[in-house]
Amino acid sequence: MNNIVVQKFGGTSVRNLECMKQVLNKVRKPLADGNKVIVVLSAMAGETNRLLALAKEWSHTPDAAELDSLVSTGEQISVALFAMMAKDEGLRARSLLGFQIPIISNDSYGKARIESIDSAKITGMLADYDVLVLAGFQGVDPGDRITTLGRGGSDTSAVAVAAALKAQVCEIYTDVPGVFTTDPNICADAKKLDRVSYDEMLEMASMGAKVLQIRSVEFAKKYNVAVHVRSTFSDEPGTIVTQEDANMEAVQVSGVAYDKDQAQVTLVGVLDEPGVCASIFTPIAESKILVDMIVQNPSKDGRTDITFTVPRADVDHTLKILEALKKDIGYLALLSDRGVSKVSVIGVGMRNHSGVAAQAFRALRDENINILMISTSEIKLSCLIEDKYTELAVRTLHQTFVGSEQQ
Ligand code: ADP
Ligand code: ASP
Ligand code: MG
Repeated sequence: MNNIVVQKFGGTSVRNLECMKQVLNKVRKPLADGNKVIVVLSAMAGETNRLLALAKEWSHTPDAAELDSLVSTGEQISVALFAMMAKDEGLRARSLLGFQIPIISNDSYGKARIESIDSAKITGMLADYDVLVLAGFQGVDPGDRITTLGRGGSDTSAVAVAAALKAQVCEIYTDVPGVFTTDPNICADAKKLDRVSYDEMLEMASMGAKVLQIRSVEFAKKYNVAVHVRSTFSDEPGTIVTQEDANMEAVQVSGVAYDKDQAQVTLVGVLDEPGVCASIFTPIAESKILVDMIVQNPSKDGRTDITFTVPRADVDHTLKILEALKKDIGYLALLSDRGVSKVSVIGVGMRNHSGVAAQAFRALRDENINILMISTSEIKLSCLIEDKYTELAVRTLHQTFVGSEQQ
């Protein structure tokens, strides 16, 4: 612990000059208390999407390394603009890009993982500067090429830097006042959580609550970083993401999440023999495609159906891999469906409360929502459903578990 505070601001918080002025006000507070501030910025809202669309116009299969070189520029714009504004206001500030620190990552372009951060370089610079404005989302690989950390990756940049510097706190400023029981933009009854455990936040993020990138929560848990999620546009206290405590267990379900970035792939009539699953999932894993739910039907006449889910962007790649395997594993048909989504209920209290699954199934039945697949963990239940019912399912599950319980 030292006098360093890390503050991260997302795309909507830096979208224009007015918003950046609000950011400056937030930075002034810890400075006035005698702290040094590391400000981590995202690209202005919409900029990363704009750059990705641009790449698609220029190339049918954009080179992954060049794509990272391109999309990382969004953050470069934000930090340069903010640093010049802060200097105008008399602050000792400068911008820093990922490669200038450096933040070393592996070479998985588009979803690179941070391997190390030169914290000595940063602390050395704090002798001359009070505010260092770091570009989020960016890394550099051992071959000196620029990488990016996956969508929402600035959260991870911020938490990783906070861990490396042993900062007092990592404040994640965004467009909502904290972590809610579900997405406040689709459910008016969503309630702000004062505290949420690392494990619950990890499940919520993994199940689609994009308020924090999954990797950022993994870092926070591993290095015990105090994360405070709060709004750029108000002063109210937000949500502290922290170690689990006894009070958290008292609540059965602490949140409902949804993920529309899902697609279902089915292999019909696969030969039911030892090694078939290994043959299917090994090449998919080697292509770094994340398979989530998997269901295998009971065998009939020596054949079975295997259904699983992958992120929508990876469906075509997955189908290509499976088509190439057809000779070896001898399936009868290959089907895919992009019109599915996943809804999940999450809570450490689920460990001690039985009946959560049955209650969730009844709630979905009452809205006539069909369940396509189910998966569970100790603190989570997920159902795959038709995409068009996502909002309805989130509201009904929220009403069932949170609306009635925590009011
Ligand atoms: P930023 O650009 O600041 O990184 P994001 O768009 O990545 O912001 O994340 C904030 C958004 O996350 C909110 O606007 C909200 O719609 C969404 N969200 C989804 N689930 C939740 C949740 N449980 N609590 C708060 N926000 C959530
Ligand atoms: N600009 C990147 C994105 O839009 C990273 C971030 O905002 O965290 O995904
Ligand atoms: Mg984000």
